[in-house]
Amino acid sequence: MSVTCRREDQARFEELGFVLEVEPTSESLVIEMVDEEANYAHADQMPTDIPYTAAHGGGSNYGAGNIACDGKEFAEVAATNDGFVVDWDYRKMKPRPQSLTRIRHYLSVDKKARAIIKTLRQQEPHKHLFSPTTNLCHHCGIHADDDLVENQPCVH
Ligand SMILES: [Zn+2]
Repeated sequence: MSVTCRREDQARFEELGFVLEVEPTSESLVIEMVDEEANYAHADQMPTDIPYTAAHGGGSNYGAGNIACDGKEFAEVAATNDGFVVDWDYRKMKPRPQSLTRIRHYLSVDKKARAIIKTLRQQEPHKHLFSPTTNLCHHCGIHADDDLVENQPCVH
């Protein structure tokens, strides 16, 4: 099971058994965590008051799914890498309305959660990208040995 969440909420997910997986830089405000053992995808234990998105595979008694929380609303939906799992009504030959409502609700919460995470990512200080040949930053032109490099985020 994997989670994309705010760095400040790392401890909340560590309590459940998640470990840090991706930390792009030490200043990242957004982190990714995983829990390989997540039985029943931590049913009823996942936080409902902080923004994050999560995805989990299926087990012997439960299916794969996606979770999203925008800090106010929590939504969970059955889904695989191929897409959402729709509850099909064989008699009426169309999806059950509850299933579509569930998916729509998930999508609206997921959209808000992703917007929060995207905003945090954009607040991260920009890193210089130095050319291996000239040692100059591709974006702002500062030299890698310049004393200002340490304290001056890149402008791009
Ligand atoms: Zn730069």
